[in-house]
Amino acid sequence: KPLVGNLIGEDHVNYVLMYNMLTGIRVGVSRCQAKIKRPLTDEDFTARHKFSFDIVGNELTPSAKYDFKFKDYAPWVFRTLREDYFELDPADYLLSLTSKYILSELGSPGKSGSFFYFSRDYRFIIKTIRHSEHQFLLKILKQYYTHVQENPHTLISRFYGLHRVKLPRGRKIHFVIMNNLFPPHKDIHETYDLKGSTVGREYPEDKAAANPRAVLKDLNWINRGKQLELGPEKRALLTEQLRRDAEFLERIKVMDYSLLVGIHNLKRGNRDNVRRNTLKVFSPDLPSNSKASHHQSKAGSKSPEAIAMKRAMRSSDPKRLNDAEDVVFSLSAEPPGDHRQQFLFYQDEGGLRATDEIDQPFYDGERGAGGTIYYLGIIDILTPYTVVKRMEHVWKGMNHDIHKISPVPPTEYAQRFLSFMKAVMRGGEGGQRFVSE
Ligand code: ATP
Ligand code: CA
Ligand code: CA
Repeated sequence: KPLVGNLIGEDHVNYVLMYNMLTGIRVGVSRCQAKIKRPLTDEDFTARHKFSFDIVGNELTPSAKYDFKFKDYAPWVFRTLREDYFELDPADYLLSLTSKYILSELGSPGKSGSFFYFSRDYRFIIKTIRHSEHQFLLKILKQYYTHVQENPHTLISRFYGLHRVKLPRGRKIHFVIMNNLFPPHKDIHETYDLKGSTVGREYPEDKAAANPRAVLKDLNWINRGKQLELGPEKRALLTEQLRRDAEFLERIKVMDYSLLVGIHNLKRGNRDNVRRNTLKVFSPDLPSNSKASHHQSKAGSKSPEAIAMKRAMRSSDPKRLNDAEDVVFSLSAEPPGDHRQQFLFYQDEGGLRATDEIDQPFYDGERGAGGTIYYLGIIDILTPYTVVKRMEHVWKGMNHDIHKISPVPPTEYAQRFLSFMKAVMRGGEGGQRFVSE
């Protein structure tokens, strides 16, 4: 099914930024990718690669439409994460990221002012982040890397890249690239952002009825009497992974993260096309491979564009990037790079299928039809418990039960988060205890 959406042209406020981000990624990532893979060193965790773009171009960077600077942070670390742990095919990654773009109509779904952009195939998200979040990610990068290494099934956001664009007037925009937890090919019928905190954690139910894309919160979950319908096996696995992840988040002293839960109802299927009708498509019209961006065809790693991209990446000559579209289609392509089925919590059509008490598909009453797939992940993990939060804590604590408000210290936050998630799984005590009077 083709994506339905409005094309965002050069007059869009974020057109230039978007163009620069994508051009920077394309050139920066292919540069690193063109080199022979080698083991990581300590220096790789603090490395930064700088690129300067202008309309003329030079021996390092092809010409671009605008003048800007691009910085690629710890490129080798992210390359290793992508290839060795997140099982991404390099050509696939670049192609998905730098062809067509979809701009979330919400602009900023969170309160933080961050912008979210989806890659055309909906697999990747670019999130602009604050400078403090950027610094924090660099600070914990090694710990994050080790956690991913030791926990191949972690539910924590997969960071694929950390970059910065600097515009001529000096404005610096930091952003990360991460996995979209939600699948490209399925409607998500309900979305919850769960923290284990209940103060102010409710999306108005009257508005929710009219907005299928509303992100609901802890109180909606509790009041609707929801639970995660998982059988003993999946329950045990999920609980254990959540425990390890929460322990890591406690160790790096963060808070404010949440478990994002997308629910796909198999009986309702995809007929609502919830997403496709509400997104706008961004067409960056990049300097190289621009023909590919006009294609509506689904890009796989066997597509001519992907093969062309692969060839271009093997060459360290930047001029070669412009020849990418001329490379002839070849049948010697590698198999598709999406190996998500091998990740425990993303094994059932990219998610986790609900199961009954004998670990068989759970049908919610009606047998033979329907069922549920959950799409789960821990997001927004870059907020350290800082002085600001401590002050907010004191302030909010004056009128509320101190243990039920959102900004509590990392240890308490992690414990509450974990016990809430256990409580809302089938067989748990339920979330009522977490509600403040
Ligand atoms: P705030 O700090 O106010 O919570 P934020 O700007 O940091 O907001 P996030 O909490 O990271 O934003 O995300 C906001 C919403 O965007 C989430 O509730 C979710 O609906 C969506 N979202 C974020 N990350 C992902 C992801 N990896 N996959 C799918 N959806 C996501
Ligand atoms: Ca958040
Ligand atoms: Ca945030």
